[in-house]
Amino acid sequence: MALSFQDIHEDVDRILFTEEDLHNRICEMGRQITADHEGESLLVISVLRGAAIFMADLVREIELPLEMDYMAISSYGNGVKSSGIVRILKDLTSSVEGRHVLIAEDILDSGLTLSYLIRNLQARNPASIEVATLLRKKTLQQAKIDCRYVGFECPDEFIVGYGLDYAERYRNLPYIGVLKKSVYEK
Ligand code: 5GP
Ligand code: MG
Ligand code: MG
Repeated sequence: MALSFQDIHEDVDRILFTEEDLHNRICEMGRQITADHEGESLLVISVLRGAAIFMADLVREIELPLEMDYMAISSYGNGVKSSGIVRILKDLTSSVEGRHVLIAEDILDSGLTLSYLIRNLQARNPASIEVATLLRKKTLQQAKIDCRYVGFECPDEFIVGYGLDYAERYRNLPYIGVLKKSVYEK
């Protein structure tokens, strides 16, 4: 049976952040990043695919010269738990050497993905590396990652919407919500 967009909405247990919450917070993050980096230009890197929507909105609130580049790494597959295995699926086009790098990440969970990414980029001699994550989960076991910009803290549940997927669905929901357990515990 064909799935309708209404079914996609109905798989969400509850909304955590509305479109308006997201817009307001991302404006604040953009203003903060702009103020902190006066006189610099940035290389903003987004981790595909989840962070693409966040990055698109964030860069439009940063009033600095910047470039955008994309990387695809995977630690998840189609499941809901981090596998600990990180693979580069697509590397950057730009050179990182001597650049002020800002990684735009969708959600920090175990931190495995980001700590791998930071180590990988550090080896390419950037001038600096900072992280802006839209969401940070309140998890007990999290790799120590220095995130300069955090949009929202969120509960340790499975989150979808605004770029975040489950099995490639739900990315186009304009809000962020918790996926019903019944969707993945079948
Ligand atoms: P970590 O390596 O920090 O455990 O997980 C990093 C990546 O896993 C995130 O960038 C995101 O792509 C995915 N991820 C972690 N938690 C969630 C979640 O609650 N929902 C979704 N859709 N993806 C998640
Ligand atoms: Mg991600
Ligand atoms: Mg995913």
